Amino acid sequence: MTSAKPRKNAKNPSVNPTIAKYDIIIVGAGPAGLSTAKAVSQLGLRVAIIERQGVDAILEPKYDGREIALTHRSQHMMSELDMWDRIEPQEISIIQSAKVYNAGEEFFMGLSSNDTKQLAYIISNHEIRKAAIDVVKDDANIKIFDNEGIEDLKINPKNVMVKLKSGVELDAKLLIAADSRFSDIRDMVGLPASKYNFEKTMIVAKMRHEKSHDYIASENFHIGHTMAILPLNDNCCSMVVTVKHDEAKRLMALSDVEYTEWCSENFGHKLGKMELITARYPYPLVGVYSDKFVAKRFALIGDAAVGMHPVTAHGFNFGLTGIEFLRNSLRSALARGQDIGSWAVLKDFETNHQRATLPLYLGTAAIVKLYTNDHPVAQVARKVLIRVADKMAPIKGVIMDKLMDDHAGNPMPLPRPLQLLKLLRNA
Ligand SMILES: Cc1cc2nc3c(=O)[nH]c(=O)nc-3n(C[C@H](O)[C@H](O)[C@H](O)COP(=O)(O)OP(=O)(O)OC[C@H]3O[C@@H](n4cnc5c(N)ncnc54)[C@H](O)[C@@H]3O)c2cc1C
Repeated sequence: MTSAKPRKNAKNPSVNPTIAKYDIIIVGAGPAGLSTAKAVSQLGLRVAIIERQGVDAILEPKYDGREIALTHRSQHMMSELDMWDRIEPQEISIIQSAKVYNAGEEFFMGLSSNDTKQLAYIISNHEIRKAAIDVVKDDANIKIFDNEGIEDLKINPKNVMVKLKSGVELDAKLLIAADSRFSDIRDMVGLPASKYNFEKTMIVAKMRHEKSHDYIASENFHIGHTMAILPLNDNCCSMVVTVKHDEAKRLMALSDVEYTEWCSENFGHKLGKMELITARYPYPLVGVYSDKFVAKRFALIGDAAVGMHPVTAHGFNFGLTGIEFLRNSLRSALARGQDIGSWAVLKDFETNHQRATLPLYLGTAAIVKLYTNDHPVAQVARKVLIRVADKMAPIKGVIMDKLMDDHAGNPMPLPRPLQLLKLLRNA
């Protein structure tokens, strides 16, 4: 990590010499914040990152149970950011194909690519975080302020002034919040976000098993709970169980052996003898979509903009898509000699990112609502939909395009976000 020199102004002594000047301030050193820092540093911009955790947690992120499925487009983006090659090959697993089952039926909707390419990659979240900090920590354009937070914030017509809790003052052209789906900075700036509480907890843990998963991911919508298997290397998988909060409490209280038996039985013993090899990590599920991604000299990135339900595995993928759009908008602005914090530049990013994310955000929420609804009518709809989806090329095509997409292509036409969000909230 490098240190920035405070601005000196010999001609004007009234300028506070302790104010450090940057081009961009990013709040949050999670995977999205760090990746954004690298992307804008590659454009030659100077960045300050503000993170509330201490330096040890940033440099040595701990395993958190999340196994992140990444699209081909994300793989490209991570390569451009110099992150991909820093991840050891044995830490990268693949999804060759996927099967989606409905409540106890043998019938499934199958997804596989037409060529030899895998559907997606899988990497543990802490490995992604490690690669991200690795590319950032010795970058001369980037300074991390750890154990920090924003005490005061002023967004002026020409700049953003930030006072940190330690008293340090920063001045930049643009402020970016990458401080999670529960973003304090989004609230501080006054951007409303639509939140959807799924009233469920997702428990994730790594298991070793006797039989091969053949690199097939599966999603099983049972009555009362959902189980997913993400294939990992060395005959291991990420076991993903989604249940109501009370049931999650009960499952978390089981012994390792009891929990393993419960999972194995509910997965129909398809993988043979199983063994739990990590702790269990519970995540209460809340979807968040910010009504706007930008304000004056301000932008949202990562989960702070779009906090997905993990079932369609798009949270960090969308984080990287947003970074790509923002980087492209900033690059064009720099080429034209435009102010990087100007409204036109930020709106360009917002339009592209909303187009790319809103349809899947809404689609995911609707699918989750249907497939976790055990009412008899919903059960019939669940059966019909999975059969129709399996037969209909356009539906599968949309899912496959999202997974296999490996470049910043044409974003989908923009729906009316607020109207759709209202519909979802009232559904
Ligand atoms: C169980 C599970 C499975 C998932 N699976 C997938 C998947 O398969 N594919 C996929 O693409 N995505 C997946 N995701 C989503 C993915 O993990 C997230 O999208 C991603 O981690 C978000 O990164 P982020 O940097 O935006 O936020 P975070 O990781 O939440 O990081 C935010 C950072 O900001 C810091 N911070 C917060 N507030 C402040 C503040 N006020 N001041 C300073 N710092 C602050 C925090 O300490 C943290 O370091 C999954 C998520 C879960 C829970």
